[in-house]
Amino acid sequence: NEKPTALIMIFGATGDLAKRKLFPSLYRLYKKGRLSERFAVVGIARRPLSNEEFQASVKASVESAIKDNGELEDFISHFYYHSHDVTDSGSYLALKSVAEKLDAHYSLEGNRIFYLAMAPEFFGTIAEHLKADGLTDVDGFKRLVIEKPFGHDLESAKQLNKQIRKAFSENEIYRIDHYLGKDMVQNIEVIRFANAIFEPLWNNRYISNIQVTSSEVLGVEERGRYYEKSGALRDMVQNHMLQMVALLAMEPPIRLTTDEIRSEKVKVLRAMRPLEGDQVKEYFVRGQYGKGQLNGQEVPAYNEEPMVDEQSNTETFVAGKLMIDNFRWAGVPIYIRTGKRMAAKSTKIVIQFKDIPMNLYYQTEQTLNPNLLVIHIQPEEGITLYLNAQKSGQNMEATPVKLNFANKGIDDMNTPEAYERLLYDCMRGDATNFTHWDEVALSWSFVDKISDVWENTKEAGFPNYESGSMGPKEADQMLEKDGFFWWPVT
Ligand code: NAD
Repeated sequence: NEKPTALIMIFGATGDLAKRKLFPSLYRLYKKGRLSERFAVVGIARRPLSNEEFQASVKASVESAIKDNGELEDFISHFYYHSHDVTDSGSYLALKSVAEKLDAHYSLEGNRIFYLAMAPEFFGTIAEHLKADGLTDVDGFKRLVIEKPFGHDLESAKQLNKQIRKAFSENEIYRIDHYLGKDMVQNIEVIRFANAIFEPLWNNRYISNIQVTSSEVLGVEERGRYYEKSGALRDMVQNHMLQMVALLAMEPPIRLTTDEIRSEKVKVLRAMRPLEGDQVKEYFVRGQYGKGQLNGQEVPAYNEEPMVDEQSNTETFVAGKLMIDNFRWAGVPIYIRTGKRMAAKSTKIVIQFKDIPMNLYYQTEQTLNPNLLVIHIQPEEGITLYLNAQKSGQNMEATPVKLNFANKGIDDMNTPEAYERLLYDCMRGDATNFTHWDEVALSWSFVDKISDVWENTKEAGFPNYESGSMGPKEADQMLEKDGFFWWPVT
């Protein structure tokens, strides 16, 4: 049990992410003894606050997230606040002196983590100032944790990367994709590489198709202004969906090290068939939610939401078919879909195996169900394997049965929150579950081809799916053309 020591500087410490995720996650690490007593946090945001006021807000955010909260006073005593406008070049020197004092006071060995929990337009400026004003001149390690979105397209991502690379080397940059911190996403690797029974079948001879769904019930909420410029493709597909696909499709790495795993993921992204012009229509479907019934309540259409254009051309749903053109996957479609205001909140992966060569159970006039391996990522966590077996009392009849493994912890302290894992990984210097620049660049170049087409052609049919449904009918037709259908996720 390593107990790393560091100064954690959180930029945007009065924001939503800090309150909902970062403070509770740090507290869990503290309670589990994963933080050394030698740690300190400086919260940075614009508004003036005293240390005491800031500590009270940290306390409140931990209390609202976690029921059992002993040692909270000790924990918050490690928190400090510094009011600072990140666009004001004159004020970084004061921040530097706060950091140096805490470094000396807690013997932090000059280790620093800069966590940018702020709007992305500030990422580049902050990194440049940290370097120019000497905050990155440290005796220990320096690491930059950066939230999504990493750019808006390949060009802007390159620009941002150039800015942050002036102050941090690639191995000091921890690009958050919080899906990679989820238990069952990390489990994809274990299921594949720690079992004798899956990997031999994990290819185009035995798998007919793979389906990755990440559906939300929530609409755009008050994020309309951001979402209008983003849309589901940039917000979900470029990062989370393609990361899950890379983990599902990669070759076994020669070792479970950061470099080896990342290089296998990169190869998957390189093997993804790029889409040009008209192919976009054939391989991808976009949707925008209309009004509908959800949990017995009428909810508004996307284009009626605050800060959203009535004529909006922004997609709140994407379904796509990915082809990985390599030896292992040639011919196997990997379908992805994600959207807001869908029937259920669910992230699931379904691996559908090919039919057996001959059905001996045809007498019952029942077609055999294919074997399925389902990986439940959220809200349930676990795996289900669908097999055919004879149920007791039946006569040589094959009936589908389910083998179920639920991965839920006993209480909320035992199932680590994604951010808890990722913060701990970063403190220990393990970048495996963060996105490398090469992955970012490859996924943007794939996604850019789609957004180019979508932005230049107005979708006349929007809104094209009802709130509370599973998306537009075109998403179902895409699979039907290939002889498949979406397996239900609820
Ligand atoms: P937020 O708007 O709630 O918080 C922004 C913070 O930045 C506030 O503390 C604000 O005071 C501070 N700030 C703004 N301008 C400043 C300036 N000029 N100088 C100093 N401080 C300034 O945002 P958020 O929801 O916490 O999101 C932060 C980042 O995390 C974004 O990149 C977002 O995309 C990402 N993110 C958020 C979530 C989430 O659940 N909220 C999830 C995933 C990613």
